[in-house]
Amino acid sequence: IKDVNVIQELMDLDKKHFLHPTSPIKQQQDHGPTFIFTEGKGVMLKDMAGNTVIDGMSSLWNVNVGHGREELGKVAMEQMSKLAFSSCFATYSNEPAIRLAAKLAQIAPGDLSATFFTSGGSEANDTAYKLARHYWILKGQPNRRKIISRTKSYHGVAMGSTSATGLKPFRDFINSFDPDFCYADHFSTQDLREVIESEGPETVAAFIAEPVQGAGGLHVAPENYFKEVRSICDEYGILFITDEVITGFGRTGKYFGIEHYGVTPDMMCFAKGVTSGYAQLGGVMLSEKIHQDFTELSTGTLLHGYTYSGHPMACAVALKNIEIIERENLIENAEIMGSGMLKGFRWIQGERQIVGKVKGLGLMGGIEIVKDRKTNERFQTPVAPIIVTEAAKRGLICRSVVFDNQDTVVFSPPLIINKEEMERMIDILHDTIAAVE
Ligand code: PLP
Repeated sequence: IKDVNVIQELMDLDKKHFLHPTSPIKQQQDHGPTFIFTEGKGVMLKDMAGNTVIDGMSSLWNVNVGHGREELGKVAMEQMSKLAFSSCFATYSNEPAIRLAAKLAQIAPGDLSATFFTSGGSEANDTAYKLARHYWILKGQPNRRKIISRTKSYHGVAMGSTSATGLKPFRDFINSFDPDFCYADHFSTQDLREVIESEGPETVAAFIAEPVQGAGGLHVAPENYFKEVRSICDEYGILFITDEVITGFGRTGKYFGIEHYGVTPDMMCFAKGVTSGYAQLGGVMLSEKIHQDFTELSTGTLLHGYTYSGHPMACAVALKNIEIIERENLIENAEIMGSGMLKGFRWIQGERQIVGKVKGLGLMGGIEIVKDRKTNERFQTPVAPIIVTEAAKRGLICRSVVFDNQDTVVFSPPLIINKEEMERMIDILHDTIAAVE
């Protein structure tokens, strides 16, 4: 535990010099950080003042194998000592990147078999849109430029991924309007069809969707939704891209979220869980057919590449992380603990008046807060943010979603969570809601 003077010094420096990502600027200036984390072990995080909390969000939906894995630190150190970095442009390559690309081909759904690496999810999404557009140029249909995404979607904060994000506040933040991006209702395939028809199918390059919407409020698509999406995309010749940035690497109780729906996308974006947050990595996988078309039709250079595409240390960490996921059967654990989490939410729903709908898939879950369960009426001022603040004081980190008139608390604990830890999480949540109600 640090001296209070050191904590105060860091609070002051944080306020003065650190512009936090996705944060209320004014509040940060007034109060500084609530936690300055110093350590993590398993599902627990510890801060400078000595407080310990359950990381009910796997931090940013990403620390799938839990905190404090020395194995991952060791592999990073070994790789950095041997070869910290080398280019993957043109004819250069490195062993971890090659082996990771091959491993991904083995575990990805269907015939997704070639990977373009990025440093994170936003870059992965922008890459997918650029590859989709370039694909149509190669196929002699350059008018296919538009990307259709869904309402309530979140695809990241690069220019393209902001434009594709269905949550309007993210676009309004930069006064973004790009007519090449359009939005279909998140649950209605009929609406998707109508958007395609009204935009003109010959202008649409791709449709992108998260198998389970996370940041947009934890929305699990209806059972037949993605089968219908796949067939609509095939009917109009539109590429189908899944954004598995959250849902990949076991989060939903299957390797990738789209596997619940029995369809294969043409491209798949991933990040977060690929390294469990131990290194910065993302990417886009292409189906064998798309990859082959690229290879056969392209005569020039693929003019898209990040300095860190195929970073050796990040790829080495990813390989070890995937090994851990498999060795410890974490995907199966996510399925089992996920149903326990949902059961816990239902129990709370029975006990507490302000809990409306509860929902989840694997270890992604959410509870909606309502004033009146029968009419689904909301409180005038959202209550979920209060629950999040109060839960943190009681030792649980969770997250609120208030976009689009929602009032939801969301969870995504590490895939290693055990029964006792899950029960503790549910107990804290229950007690918090009881205190707030
Ligand atoms: N796509 C989805 C579904 C996400 O949830 C996120 C981040 O939360 C992103 C993309 C963006 O990823 P990153 O923050 O790594 O750029």
